[in-house]
Amino acid sequence: MRSDDFLKWKKADLYIIAAMLCFAAIAVLLVKGRKTGDYIVVESTDGKQEYMLDEDREIIIDNTEHGYNKIIISDGYVRMEEADCPNQLCVKHKPVKLNGESIVCLPNKVYVTVVSKNKKETDN
Ligand SMILES: [Zn+2]
Repeated sequence: MRSDDFLKWKKADLYIIAAMLCFAAIAVLLVKGRKTGDYIVVESTDGKQEYMLDEDREIIIDNTEHGYNKIIISDGYVRMEEADCPNQLCVKHKPVKLNGESIVCLPNKVYVTVVSKNKKETDN
């Protein structure tokens, strides 16, 4: 009887370990599988605009009621080059390019999010 109980526990432990390994594997896949985004969505009180990440450009947002932001797309990365917000958190934010990453300027209500089309892969 006792050894049966012992075996049951062992089995339960194995399931727990197996489940944990599965979660770990999924977590690794999620992190590693994070793809480079295809375009960015810029949201401000001015509206919502989309820009391709593979085209270098400068996006100025200055006709909102909140303030001025200059967003730069360069070498596949997007960054906040300039802003007149008091905390400058968005300007200090590192350039982003991975799907789901974002740069937010809360005082000016400007949201930059990297998005992946996730349809067909273009070869880089
Ligand atoms: Zn800001």
